Amino acid sequence: MDTKAYVEQEDRYGAHNYHPLNVVVERAEGVWVYDVDGKKYLDCLAAYSAVNQGHCHPRIVKALRDQAGKLALTSRAFRNDQLGAYCKKVSELAGLPRVLPMNTGAEAVETAIKAARKWGYDVKGIEKNKAEIIVFENNFHGRTTTIVGFSNDPDSYGGFGPFTPGFRLIPFGDIGAFQAAVNENTCAMIIEPIQGEGGIIIPREGYLKEAYDHCKANNVLFIADEIQSGLGRTGKMFCYEWDNIKPDGVIIGKALSGGMYPVSAFVATEEVMGVFFPGSHGSTYGGNPLACAVASEALAVIEDEKLVEKSAELGPYFLEKLQSIKSDRIKEVRGRGLWLAIELDRPARSDCEALKELGMLCKETHANIIRIAPPLTITKAEVDWASDQVKSVLESPALAPA
Ligand SMILES: *Cc1c(COP(=O)(O)O)cnc(C)c1O
Repeated sequence: MDTKAYVEQEDRYGAHNYHPLNVVVERAEGVWVYDVDGKKYLDCLAAYSAVNQGHCHPRIVKALRDQAGKLALTSRAFRNDQLGAYCKKVSELAGLPRVLPMNTGAEAVETAIKAARKWGYDVKGIEKNKAEIIVFENNFHGRTTTIVGFSNDPDSYGGFGPFTPGFRLIPFGDIGAFQAAVNENTCAMIIEPIQGEGGIIIPREGYLKEAYDHCKANNVLFIADEIQSGLGRTGKMFCYEWDNIKPDGVIIGKALSGGMYPVSAFVATEEVMGVFFPGSHGSTYGGNPLACAVASEALAVIEDEKLVEKSAELGPYFLEKLQSIKSDRIKEVRGRGLWLAIELDRPARSDCEALKELGMLCKETHANIIRIAPPLTITKAEVDWASDQVKSVLESPALAPA
């Protein structure tokens, strides 16, 4: 089968809830992916930052293989020999004592919502069913009905109501709006320290700390959704470290498994996690030994290969190279660590198509933003190469749509 046949088959039988570039990938190694015609591409999306460690990292593949042949699933009805060590590792990394393992990012966000509400009733003393959680315009926290209910992107929520009440949606980056939104029923805020799907939106310096201080002063939980921003992407292990704050809860996923398997977690203080008792929350696959073995190894790879440091080092270099591109289509180039965005004054789809032809995979977000988020294992030479491709596309008027 050729590319066209694969595309036709998928479009004929699959639901059309995505609009992928027509590249049919069949294998991958590190930062490179290969399509069914044998053409090679530099992956500059890294599965929305799930593949920070690079594709098919040999250590993570081995962990998966070894564990799959021994024990894959017990459910939490019984214990398994991988869970404790895994939780210890995540807890130490996040600097928070308790870990609740889940599978997908959205499930971990749901877990955080449940924990925050119950904490609001059990600990803060909010009146029954009155708890409010503050969330931010332009957010992306996943696709469940509750979560899309507090999205302000019509594509995400349109047609899926009625929605769960108890969320207050306010502008991102506006401290006055945040302070005004907090009241005695506010149990938590859930925030992406940098909005990823929103287009790598970085709040002004000081904002997160001010919001955090206001949370502390008003007994409100600060919960960071680090599913995309965490695990090295921004040049720190967690993005919130840039702001010198200590969240009450952190949500992680994506690169937690290095792209090998769906693994997510909600990590929190004793007080927050203390609201759960046996039977109050769970997941059949959450904390399964295969997930734990894979994630433990994926985290060890981030540490051993110093991927956080690499992101901190190469990110600013990449940013500078992209900022030096001269094109009247570019509105702004921004980023932190190896998480970069080129905002255009027009839809970016055709530029992503052009980059694909040159062997570089990027996917537009919000129509006019090209996000660049390669595996953190990318080399300086590969950054140079990628910058050259972007330059050739964006400095070429022929490829610009009218
Ligand atoms: C990807 C993402 C999610 C959802 O994760 P899934 O695994 O797709 O459910 C939630 N929050 C953020 C910030 C994300 O980037």
